[in-house]
Amino acid sequence: MGRKAVFLDRDGTLNEEVNYLGKVEDFTWLPRADLAVRRLNDAGWIVILITNQSGIGRGYYTEQDIAEIHQRIVSDLAHIGAHLDGIYYCPHHPDEGCACRKPQPYLFQKAAQELDLDLSASYTIGDKLSDLEPGQRLGCRTILLLTGHGQAHLKLAREQDFRPDHIAEDLYQAVEWISQHEDSLRL
Ligand SMILES: [Mg+2]
Ligand SMILES: [Zn+2]
Repeated sequence: MGRKAVFLDRDGTLNEEVNYLGKVEDFTWLPRADLAVRRLNDAGWIVILITNQSGIGRGYYTEQDIAEIHQRIVSDLAHIGAHLDGIYYCPHHPDEGCACRKPQPYLFQKAAQELDLDLSASYTIGDKLSDLEPGQRLGCRTILLLTGHGQAHLKLAREQDFRPDHIAEDLYQAVEWISQHEDSLRL
């Protein structure tokens, strides 16, 4: 049957969007994003981070820099009793035409296979349409956040007639909506 997951984008979703974050010192949590992850953990969701990191392919920072940033995320979450069940990233330059860069669904499918996920019972959350498109294609529900690039992508969504299942101010509110939505599904 598979397990229910929430796929999270990183920049502009968990942490402040700073354009090619390569230094762990420049990492800043968005308000309550860490608590949102804990709420998902406590409610039994599998939480997966999927992020495009073309800054590696562009030569702006290295795999080691990314490892440090992800270690920081993991340890900050551990401090409040929260965790991620998986972290997947695409390191490629967009011109490389790789299979893993969002909006391609490859990393979502890889996570689903490795962690035995039920995509039709899962959610995808991010501040860009490219975060949501792969989720939508795979049958996940989608939530667009207004943090990060969210305002610009809300406009894009309207222009392209892309309809997220929900639009939320931030990750915490998105998680709140999921919990209410899941309650109503059970009625
Ligand atoms: Mg983002
Ligand atoms: Zn890639």
